[in-house]
Amino acid sequence: MELTSLLKRIVGDRFVLTDREKLENYILDETPIHIRPRPASNLILVKPSNTQEVSEILKIANQYRIPVYPRGGGSGLAGGAIPTRNGIILSLERMNRIEIDRENLMAVAEAGVTLEKLIKTAEEAELFFPLHPGDESAQIGGLISTNAGGTRAVKFGIMRNYVKGLEIVLPTGEVLRLGGRLQKNNAGYDLMHLIIGSEGTLAIITKAIIKLYPKFEATATLVIPFENRQDAINSVPKILQGGVMPLAIEYVERELMEKTAKHLGEVWQVKEGRCYLLVIVAEQSREEMLNQSLKIAEICKNYGAMEPLFAEPKEDQDRILRIRSNIYLTLKSEMIDTLDVTVPPASIGKLIEEVDRIAEKYDTRLPAYGHAGDGNLHIHIMDEGRDEEYYEKLRSEIYDAAVKLGGTITGEHGIGKVRVRSLMKYMDEKQLEIMRKIKEIFDPNNILNPEAVIP
Ligand SMILES: Cc1cc2nc3c(=O)[nH]c(=O)nc-3n(C[C@H](O)[C@H](O)[C@H](O)COP(=O)(O)OP(=O)(O)OC[C@H]3O[C@@H](n4cnc5c(N)ncnc54)[C@H](O)[C@@H]3O)c2cc1C
Repeated sequence: MELTSLLKRIVGDRFVLTDREKLENYILDETPIHIRPRPASNLILVKPSNTQEVSEILKIANQYRIPVYPRGGGSGLAGGAIPTRNGIILSLERMNRIEIDRENLMAVAEAGVTLEKLIKTAEEAELFFPLHPGDESAQIGGLISTNAGGTRAVKFGIMRNYVKGLEIVLPTGEVLRLGGRLQKNNAGYDLMHLIIGSEGTLAIITKAIIKLYPKFEATATLVIPFENRQDAINSVPKILQGGVMPLAIEYVERELMEKTAKHLGEVWQVKEGRCYLLVIVAEQSREEMLNQSLKIAEICKNYGAMEPLFAEPKEDQDRILRIRSNIYLTLKSEMIDTLDVTVPPASIGKLIEEVDRIAEKYDTRLPAYGHAGDGNLHIHIMDEGRDEEYYEKLRSEIYDAAVKLGGTITGEHGIGKVRVRSLMKYMDEKQLEIMRKIKEIFDPNNILNPEAVIP
């Protein structure tokens, strides 16, 4: 029996698609067009509704050595979900049930639940999911597979810090349940944390147990203007060393906020300064929130900051976050690449100095913004109509600078299919050898997302 029929027997006719037109929204992701890998031509899209169906699909794929590309919201920035060989696209979108466990402050969510739904469902239960990667159409499975970060990672960390349990399906079709509704679990090697960030190359995530927090009583967003980016960035470690722990410390440039606001049909209202720190303060009392905000403004003033804008109404704060989250999509058509380097937080000043030096050396501009509180900056290489060799040189210089500062080539977007060569260049051979062996143990026939991370 041919493959399509076998799959239709598992999930039903309606949920197996081969017509190319219907696959258009499933063969690409948000990776910059210039570096995006090309999708294969012969693809089958399958949409299972539960873990059992995922298991049966993988058993068949493994038996016939057919590549399987797990897909979440398709918002990835490293080509991870792009199906580069003929095979199966496995969309988890139908697996979107979620339950809130108020007793344990946790959410139990299927992999196809979107970030938007998780945030909303937690709020309805008077709880809070702090993390906010910029695209709310991302799904739980994708967020965990990329170990996503985002704007509000300073206080409670990245996706890995929220995952307490996982249900996964191995390429052999076996179902494993890792962790649980547990704050502590020390039984043997931590396989759960191996799956987090594995970008769909070791197993399919079908369900997750995610830690939530009590809702904050009082939050505010400070927009702190600076004349130059060196001063702005240098004040970031001082805020963290000053005994305050905001939810977010973002670095952005005025030109980008104005351009993005216009792109969204809005107007950016802060006219002072050339760049800003966007700091989100969240506390269990308004008094404490105001104390923290004053302390942060004071620290930044010592570094040349101007009078901050203090936004407290939720709609004002949401508007600032919305503009910040859409910078990438606003610039996407003009760029060659978006780099995601991360350095020790206290070295972020040196990183921006290096970026300035490299921009001058190449007589180009390198728009930079990002999660300064985590030492993570997104640096855009803009399209100047030059050849690939020029862009590759620029990319390598920025990576060299970050690695020399004790940093890494990617803090949150992952390796996917577009950073594999750089991973080979910057990772030592022993680590690569161990990673290859881990891949072979989980996926001996190399059917899961081949060509991603560790080819
Ligand atoms: C405007 C914009 C802003 C963004 N901002 C941020 C940000 O601030 N921080 C950040 O970290 N990222 C950010 N991203 C990138 C992206 O949103 C994240 O990488 C997100 O985690 C991807 O989730 P997704 O569901 O869209 O995954 P997809 O793109 O569908 O897939 C990503 C990877 O996960 C794998 N995968 C997906 N689902 C599963 C599953 N169930 N089991 C196993 N593997 C699976 C895929 O194979 C692929 O390798 C942004 C993207 C955009 C477009």
